[in-house]
Amino acid sequence: MVLQRDTLSELSTSSQPEASYIFTHKTVFSELLQKVPCTYCTNCTLVIKHHSMGYSTKMELLCESCHESYGSVFSSFQEEAKNSHDINSKLVSAFLSIGRGHAALETFSSVLNMPTMDRKHLPNACTTYP
Ligand SMILES: [Zn+2]
Repeated sequence: MVLQRDTLSELSTSSQPEASYIFTHKTVFSELLQKVPCTYCTNCTLVIKHHSMGYSTKMELLCESCHESYGSVFSSFQEEAKNSHDINSKLVSAFLSIGRGHAALETFSSVLNMPTMDRKHLPNACTTYP
């Protein structure tokens, strides 16, 4: 489904609260960065490297030409007290609250072509999954 301008306007005026998370296809980052020059070598070769930890992703901004790193962030904040990432806890909590388990979480991840959690992490995901 392609969203038309009218549909987008309708969505932006919704009375729903602002979202904390968004689903973003990885190619969107490349599109955003394709015309941004590296401040060190001036080539437009900035990329974001991803490393998944469950549903949380460490994203590092790098220049592919000069290999300079601009730093990294996680897509979800870490809950230090729980030794977990917020999104991992929330997704597990959501699936458990609708009465679904690991198989459903795997299907969800597969449809979105996302990494999933190992089954061994699910029962204690809110407290032990990184
Ligand atoms: Zn560079």
